[in-house]
Amino acid sequence: MIYHSTRDISREVAASEAITRGISPEGGLFVPKALPKIDGQRLAALSKMTYIERAVNILAEFLPEFSGEELRAGVEAAYTGKFGGESSGVVTPISRLDEKTYVLELWHGPTCAFKDMALQLLPHLLTLSAERFAGGKQIAILTATSGDTGKAALEGFKDVPGTRIMVFYPKDGVSEMQRLQMITQEGANVAVCGVDGNFDDAQTAVKRIFTDTELGKRLEKNNMMFSSANSINWGRLVPQICYYVSAYCDLVAQGELKPGEKLNVCVPTGNFGNILAAYYARHMGLPVNKLICASNINNVLTDFIRTGVYDRRREFMTTSSPSMDILISSNLERLLFELLDKDDAAVRGLMERLAKEGVYDVGEAAAKKLAAEFYAGCCDEAETAATIKAAFDEYSYMCDTHTAVGLCVARRYAKETGDTTKTLVASTASPYKFPSSILRALTGEASNLDEFRQAERLAELTNTEPPESLRDLERKPVRFAENRGREELREYVTEQLGI
Ligand SMILES: *Cc1c(COP(=O)(O)O)cnc(C)c1O
Repeated sequence: MIYHSTRDISREVAASEAITRGISPEGGLFVPKALPKIDGQRLAALSKMTYIERAVNILAEFLPEFSGEELRAGVEAAYTGKFGGESSGVVTPISRLDEKTYVLELWHGPTCAFKDMALQLLPHLLTLSAERFAGGKQIAILTATSGDTGKAALEGFKDVPGTRIMVFYPKDGVSEMQRLQMITQEGANVAVCGVDGNFDDAQTAVKRIFTDTELGKRLEKNNMMFSSANSINWGRLVPQICYYVSAYCDLVAQGELKPGEKLNVCVPTGNFGNILAAYYARHMGLPVNKLICASNINNVLTDFIRTGVYDRRREFMTTSSPSMDILISSNLERLLFELLDKDDAAVRGLMERLAKEGVYDVGEAAAKKLAAEFYAGCCDEAETAATIKAAFDEYSYMCDTHTAVGLCVARRYAKETGDTTKTLVASTASPYKFPSSILRALTGEASNLDEFRQAERLAELTNTEPPESLRDLERKPVRFAENRGREELREYVTEQLGI
């Protein structure tokens, strides 16, 4: 399989190069030249397999450079015993809320967010890729995070030989649990730094470091190279395709869907990575009807999908679903590339307009395709809280704030359109990552207890257990208390790498 860049299709690379680099040197993102296909027969075969076998089967087509044994070893190391508890062995369980609504729980991994699905596997893919593409260079991973990527990347890459990882988070833009998870991170090759600014500022600063040619040369001299653990890296997206295919197989195996029956997929969205994986699964042939894109009040994607105009010139809001507080959704570039029939010059033009003017218009033909495939909706803070309460009251189901945004928009979609297709809502984090927001939604009042005591109250109230990894945070020493201005990240990186 060949990959090319969204901003220069003449730049063709193998998967190992796409994954090692993370981003193309001219700023584009790597995408597969053609997608593998899934038909009914293949789905039937996949349905009989375990999650690990399904993932190996799908990854093999996207990553043909790696042997079956290499892939299997990576996938087993990533998912065995790390998800859903030792005993259950179910990596991505599905909860049925009613006869039309299913919740795909993607957060049973070590850091309690769906990012683990990709970031437990990425280090294996990156190590294999770097062996082939970067022969012995040390890989320096830079990651901007809106809350969950940082911890999941740190946990995936800690003490992985041949790698260093640095994580930048918006200092006032993450939940207390998310912050504690990062600043207490263990491992000899890790560093974490708060940034004065929001996620977009951190992400833009990191992207600038990646394309800084002077710095690139300095790394080269020191036998190092940069890579990214953000979802701009193809190695982040491809593991996510697997869980949509697997969820469909599970629903068929459980008799909830007839083979070939269409399913809507609703995804609470920030950087457009998770929903893009569902889009790729649909284009591979998975029977997906509508892709439902759910946003919080940072609703730049809602407007884009409804109008074809992307306009980031609006106030950045801090919400109770911080991992979706994003106005520049990086992975949208990959969708634009497909909508514009792989016209790299057109993508380049739109991305330049976005950088210079903060707005672009995809044009009528692309907007039509967008509307045919996607539905978009957004949900404010009061609606998010009301959805958490309603899910608990009606279904005894406790969900986190991000998942609530998804459930709220999935409901609105069904009501507005009358579509009766069954809907799978991606659940992206454990509610225990956001105990104060969930407790307030359920009880109707703010608590002045600390986060850990609130988690305990939540446990009593809902008769559930907080994940051990979150409970343990209270006792862990802080290792990374530092904050920097967004102009100082380059310096931080050179200091950390000693170059
Ligand atoms: C990252 C994240 C999202 C958004 O996912 P994208 O792939 O960036 O769209 C949603 N919910 C949670 C809990 C997340 O951590």
